[in-house]
Amino acid sequence: MTLLLFRDDAYLKSCDAKVLGINERGGIILDQTVFYPTAGGQPGDKGSLMVDGSPIAIATTVYDEAKNAVHVPAEPVSLAQGTPVSAALDWDNRYRNMRCHSLMHLLCAAVPFPVTGSALTEEGGRIDFDIPEGHIPIKEELAAKINGWISEDHPITTRWIAEEELDANPGLVRTLWVKPPRGSGRIRLVSIGVNDAVDLQPCGGTHLKSTGGIGRVAVAKIENKGKMNRRIRLAFAS
Ligand SMILES: [Zn+2]
Repeated sequence: MTLLLFRDDAYLKSCDAKVLGINERGGIILDQTVFYPTAGGQPGDKGSLMVDGSPIAIATTVYDEAKNAVHVPAEPVSLAQGTPVSAALDWDNRYRNMRCHSLMHLLCAAVPFPVTGSALTEEGGRIDFDIPEGHIPIKEELAAKINGWISEDHPITTRWIAEEELDANPGLVRTLWVKPPRGSGRIRLVSIGVNDAVDLQPCGGTHLKSTGGIGRVAVAKIENKGKMNRRIRLAFAS
């Protein structure tokens, strides 16, 4: 199994690792990695693996069925098992994803209705909600609420709980944006604010240390996508 270093430190930009193998589709599996594989609405990381001083470009990262991180090379490569590599992220890309993803937590916290989909976009990100008639937020009010949390610079922290604990306390989690992965016996919770003041929800993604790093945002659009479905788009102001 790949040791997923980003789970404990999302700010690690590189690590040394060893090749465990190359799968049948040409994807590279390492014993440990800083690369986040596509999941929960956050895209997989890009970057490079240095082998003997030569870089192998990594186009994206995905999970395989066994939950290993698979580094997808831009060009096919052959690497012997046990080859030492240095794995380095495209940090600008990852940091932007962390800003966007952390922002999506705030949007979720600000709009307390069921989520039907989400995506990070070029300008920021969007979430689809089922919002009953009469509860559609006003763009300016929603932006003010989210920008308030950003300027208050709330800490973002993670902790693990047992699955049974979550089952016994459904109210523990305010908004269920992404279904938490089940089966490992424990669930990773992401908390925003002291004593979870802003939000608490299960998430396996990578986040900023605090909300201030997101920077000022605007509610770009609230689109009508069906009877109750509303798509809310946020954009970075800078
Ligand atoms: Zn998250």
